[in-house]
Amino acid sequence: MNTSGIGMTSQRTKLRMIDRLREQGIKDETVLAAMFAVPRHLFVDEALASRAYDDVSLPINFNQTISQPYIVARMIEILRNGRQLGRVLEIGTGCGYQAAVLAQVAAEVYSMERIAPLYERAKKQLREMKLRNITVRYADGCAGLPEAAPFDGIIMAAAAPALLPALREQLQVGGRMVLPVGMQEQFLYLIERDAKGFRETRLEPVKFVPLLMGKV
Ligand code: SAH
Repeated sequence: MNTSGIGMTSQRTKLRMIDRLREQGIKDETVLAAMFAVPRHLFVDEALASRAYDDVSLPINFNQTISQPYIVARMIEILRNGRQLGRVLEIGTGCGYQAAVLAQVAAEVYSMERIAPLYERAKKQLREMKLRNITVRYADGCAGLPEAAPFDGIIMAAAAPALLPALREQLQVGGRMVLPVGMQEQFLYLIERDAKGFRETRLEPVKFVPLLMGKV
């Protein structure tokens, strides 16, 4: 197999993705560098690899999707807010792509997934990529991960029906949480914790798979 040819194509298509992210308004160079560093095509089925860098979400089986590049970059840009991230929690590992991008910009990443085969595959993929600052957990993420809290950032990759007050308690002071909220109509929310309490900001409309309870 001529892998160098594939490599060339993905370098070029990756650069095109970064240009598009800039056009779409992503400004954080650290986030753009992280998006460039992670080979997104390795996180989708081979049959879909040629579309991996398009600005679309793609199926990863079990009725789940890998989020489109723009929303991954946007959420991490908001989470970072220009700062170095310490320990971050992601709820909804899926294929592991967003966790891999987070691992480029955070000291430590914890990621939780409730679907066993997705968890297994993501864990294997992330191990093969030697991303040693990611811990993947097979668990319902609705209650967060109290034993690893507090977090500098929490990011949710599935839409919660409401703002989940229990989860935000796992933010440290100065921490930020970015999550989609809603059922039919969803919006991205930013929650910031300071010494006095929490501040909520509603951002743009989004479309995510629902947050579900329990493990399967
Ligand atoms: N960040 C992922 C996107 C995955 S889609 C990526 O880069 O591919 C959302 C994921 O959230 C799905 O895999 C779904 O199974 C998972 N999910 C939904 N509810 C969950 C819960 N309560 N706990 C953990 N994971 C959950």
